[in-house]
Amino acid sequence: MEFKSMNLSENTPVIPEGDVEKVKCLIVGSGPAGYTAAIYAARANLNPVVIEGLQPGGQLTTTTEVDNFPGYPQGVTGPDMMADLKKQAERFGTDCRWGLVTAVDFSVYPHKVVVDEKKVIEAESVILATGATAKYLGFPTEEKYMGSGVSACATCDGFFYRGKDVAVVGGGDTAAEEATYLAGLCKKVYLIVRKPFLRASKAMQDRVFKTENIEVYSSTIPRNCMVMEW
Ligand SMILES: Cc1cc2nc3c(=O)[nH]c(=O)nc-3n(C[C@H](O)[C@H](O)[C@H](O)COP(=O)(O)OP(=O)(O)OC[C@H]3O[C@@H](n4cnc5c(N)ncnc54)[C@H](O)[C@@H]3O)c2cc1C
Repeated sequence: MEFKSMNLSENTPVIPEGDVEKVKCLIVGSGPAGYTAAIYAARANLNPVVIEGLQPGGQLTTTTEVDNFPGYPQGVTGPDMMADLKKQAERFGTDCRWGLVTAVDFSVYPHKVVVDEKKVIEAESVILATGATAKYLGFPTEEKYMGSGVSACATCDGFFYRGKDVAVVGGGDTAAEEATYLAGLCKKVYLIVRKPFLRASKAMQDRVFKTENIEVYSSTIPRNCMVMEW
């Protein structure tokens, strides 16, 4: 997880002077994790405040169909689903606010959280739900084919690649896990590994090497990506 804009690692975070708001429960992030936490906290009378961050609704607002979330038999678009989650959290009294958490001081209690470098909130509890960001390779074509041949999530999109040949880039546990998952759906999985060896745990490597339709290309650096057939 990257705390991109939060100086969590600094020993002496800069806490501005001024009015301080006190809250029982502060939730940082408004993706599925943030709103789920808010629903539970609000129902426990903790009057949660959600600071939404630069991507209100989180990563799912960047996708079209979400088919694997229980409760939507016809599927749902990511933005609609996140609007529903927000409404549900607000129904129980969650206070959702625009803003970016720019510093925190967890060495004091109540914890201090700075929003947009100026507003200080003192919170009895803080839930960090700042999500994660997929590591892309940086090819211009990657963005072009995102959602129509390029994906950063096998369990989300693997279904669309049934019976096809796919490539997974990476040599760690995540890549090994995704390759093994896709091998159950796809005709062939090429695992492209930059180093001469896999970094994945021994157990994950064993699964990769025992799976007949996974072929490992080590010492191989991808230079571009193209979608041959869609
Ligand atoms: C294109 C795409 C398609 C996907 N499709 C699917 C799918 O079909 N099915 C599926 O199960 N999963 C899918 N995923 C994965 C899914 O989106 C993530 O697993 C999920 O969003 C993670 O939820 P989260 O709440 O942990 O974090 P995120 O959704 O990443 O939300 C993080 C939140 O934290 C906020 N934040 C970050 N830093 C700060 C800060 N300093 N201050 C305040 N707020 C901050 C952001 O603004 C954001 O609101 C997809 C992902 C992508 C990118």
